[in-house]
Amino acid sequence: MGPGPINADPRVLRAMSAPLLGQYDPAMTAYMTETQELYRQVFRTANDATLLVDGTSRSGIEAVLVSLLEPGDRVLVPVFGRFGHLLKEIAERCLAEVHVIEAEWGTVFEPEQLEAAIVEVRPKVLALVQGDTSTTMCQPLADVGEICRRHGVLFYSDVTASLGGNAFEMDGWGLDAATAGLQKCLAGPSGSAPTSLSDAAVEVIRSRKHVEAGIRESSDDLDEEATIRPRIRSNYFDLGMILDYWGPRRLNHHTEASSMLYGARECARLLVNEGMGTAIERHRLHGAAILAGVQGLGLEVFGDVAHKMNNVVAVEIPAGLDGDGARSAMLHDFGIEIGTSFGPLHGRVWRIGTMGYNARHDAVLGTLAALEQVLRGGGLSPVPGGGVAAAKEVYAG
Ligand SMILES: *Cc1c(COP(=O)(O)O)cnc(C)c1O
Repeated sequence: MGPGPINADPRVLRAMSAPLLGQYDPAMTAYMTETQELYRQVFRTANDATLLVDGTSRSGIEAVLVSLLEPGDRVLVPVFGRFGHLLKEIAERCLAEVHVIEAEWGTVFEPEQLEAAIVEVRPKVLALVQGDTSTTMCQPLADVGEICRRHGVLFYSDVTASLGGNAFEMDGWGLDAATAGLQKCLAGPSGSAPTSLSDAAVEVIRSRKHVEAGIRESSDDLDEEATIRPRIRSNYFDLGMILDYWGPRRLNHHTEASSMLYGARECARLLVNEGMGTAIERHRLHGAAILAGVQGLGLEVFGDVAHKMNNVVAVEIPAGLDGDGARSAMLHDFGIEIGTSFGPLHGRVWRIGTMGYNARHDAVLGTLAALEQVLRGGGLSPVPGGGVAAAKEVYAG
């Protein structure tokens, strides 16, 4: 019950144990095509360029940033938690000129703040996290695409922690790139990064693809207007090559990670069968139940609850209690893992997740019942039965 990774859905684990296939086996290429179609539904997009990057969530982040950003390009990274710092760090390694604005932990940005920074910086790319598990905040994105469009900025979001558990509309909100992972609301293991790119993003990537080290490859490229763009500084994360691998040409790149593909496909299949709206509502319900439950035990919650992600809550560790001792007791006595925290919140809050396969009644009620006993064991006097009762009230509507 931590902020991720979570218990994978048993159906995902079962799918991953299927026999391996070579990447050009017709069954395998059919699975790849199906997986693309399923993730279009998960991201809510018509983007052709929807695929998996093989690696954990940050492989998707690296692929997008290294493929979109040329050395010297300006990128704006609004930071409201740990993962904003990760986007900044990766963009710096792409030799981009990185501009950062920061929001206090536990808060999100207003669209006006983002627009003012865009006007000032004039970036090529805005790189913005949607849900940052470090603070539990969910940055509203619905108005940001329109702002980016007005100012000619490509809009990229890392939706790893939020996708599947909180509303996300790739096309409706005007995003150019989004990347995710499986180990949060998608109910899978880490190791695959679903990624989607708009036509505009693909065009930026394609404009770099055919120029090797600043030398034009063919006479077709001898167009006076053409600018020579440096090639993408990674082979593995070159989204131009990865697109050709997943696209109709199926040009060889890496050896597709077959078992991860089966897992990623099953994660998306389960969500799409459930219905994206139903899955988000499930996360909202169980998130509301755990929130009411910890409050019902008499605990305080960190951050602006109005902007909290559905799938994780940060609970203030009560004064006088050994926070790590309580986490150990949860694990050893009850087999329940809850999360610690980073940076300014280290030692101050626990993070409890209700996501993917763990967004369930029994998981929520069992966690609250166990937490009550652990608090009592630590010498506190939580409201007897207050956690489970408050959660059940949420479930009763
Ligand atoms: C959990 C999380 C990640 C995880 O990245 P990995 O490479 O899979 O460890 C990335 N971004 C965000 C916003 C996350 O919450």
